[in-house]
Amino acid sequence: MPVTCGNCDKKAILKRPKTGDALCKECFFAAFELEIHHTIETARLFSHGDRVAIGASGGKDSTVLAYVMKVLNERFNYGLDLVLLSIDEGITGYRDDSLETVKRNQQQYDLPLKIVSYEELYGWTMDAIVKEIGLKNNCTFCGVFRRQALDRGAMLMKCNKIVTGHNADDIAETVIMNVLRGDIARLRRCTAITTGMEGALPRCKPFKYTYEKEIVMYAYFKKLDYFSTECIYSPNAYRGHARTYIKDAEAIRPSSIIDIIHSGESMAIKKDVKMPVQGRYFN
Ligand code: SF4
Ligand code: ZN
Repeated sequence: MPVTCGNCDKKAILKRPKTGDALCKECFFAAFELEIHHTIETARLFSHGDRVAIGASGGKDSTVLAYVMKVLNERFNYGLDLVLLSIDEGITGYRDDSLETVKRNQQQYDLPLKIVSYEELYGWTMDAIVKEIGLKNNCTFCGVFRRQALDRGAMLMKCNKIVTGHNADDIAETVIMNVLRGDIARLRRCTAITTGMEGALPRCKPFKYTYEKEIVMYAYFKKLDYFSTECIYSPNAYRGHARTYIKDAEAIRPSSIIDIIHSGESMAIKKDVKMPVQGRYFN
């Protein structure tokens, strides 16, 4: 017997990974979008008139983010000026292909797009860096460069905020990694929905509570155009272990992802606790 949607009388065609609810396509879209709207409203991520750069890599998270930001901005009248901002790390066979996806998204969503490259900003591509230093620590360089490049690109586009597609699974992974490393300073920062207030530009994560499986499901049913290849220089084994752990925990109890984020939030250290100085360790 066909299962009926838990929200209307249509036929259910999916089971929501986050809640286990049987839903029709339309009710899933509505629930998914409304939860993100709720996150945005509760955390007061934006103000009317903000010009927001959407960090767009062509991958599933940022493609869904660009689409949903546009939908919500129009539906709820946020009054945001949205632009796409892509970083070209200079990784042949990976970023060049994913940037083609972003260029198509620009047409599909009718948003302005700026691409800034490591080469123009720093005189180095990631291909050249990996050739020089090998595969060890390459992601550390790349991460620092990307953070700066996003700031520089957003400033060039006269944006006052950046949004990124970090999802609940990413944040739960980071919580676990920081617990395993005993890095309490990072543990305090990693669950924040907005970071970078002290630096150049605030960055927000509207997908903080959005499950990766639901992002994939949304992209699939909406037939969004995204790029799904992993970076060829991605040796981050430690994150890989945290990821496997999160997925195993999710399989046993879907709420594990949110539970880990909430645990990370409640373990956050009070502001007046003395923190270790970053990058210095004493025996
Ligand atoms: Fe850069 Fe590492 Fe990400 Fe590749 S996996 S884009 S090298 S941070
Ligand atoms: Zn329904």
